[in-house]
Amino acid sequence: MVKGFFVSDDIKNFKFDDFGMKHALKQAGKAFACDEVPIGAVILNKDGKIIARAYNQVEKKHTQLAHAELQVLHKVTKKLERWRLNDCTLYVTLQPCIMCMGALILSRIGRIVYAANSPLFGCNVDKYEWFGIYKDSLPLIEFQEKMNR
Ligand SMILES: [Zn+2]
Repeated sequence: MVKGFFVSDDIKNFKFDDFGMKHALKQAGKAFACDEVPIGAVILNKDGKIIARAYNQVEKKHTQLAHAELQVLHKVTKKLERWRLNDCTLYVTLQPCIMCMGALILSRIGRIVYAANSPLFGCNVDKYEWFGIYKDSLPLIEFQEKMNR
């Protein structure tokens, strides 16, 4: 289900969705094995290549800044040596929280695909008019019901 927003044609790499989400779930498994909340994330480039992967490490690092999305963003920007990620897609197992969504929007990420809604902390960017000038470059955000495959 498409939740909306602008996306450039070359980022519509839907054929990589199963691959991306499979690897995000694998990362979530690593978090689970470490007694963390099981959330995993990967970022793919437009050719479907994994640039970075990460999982939630809030308990290990004693900080909420260790959400999987922020960690994978950090790895990708370091690896690519740039912060604009308009040609990248994030796959994450849970709907991003408002903190992560803020960072993702600032990164200009092209597309976000998440697996499960988060009624507790999930952020719906379409509710926030204060994204103001970024409204034309918001990521395409999609919900993928593939957790039971
Ligand atoms: Zn978060």
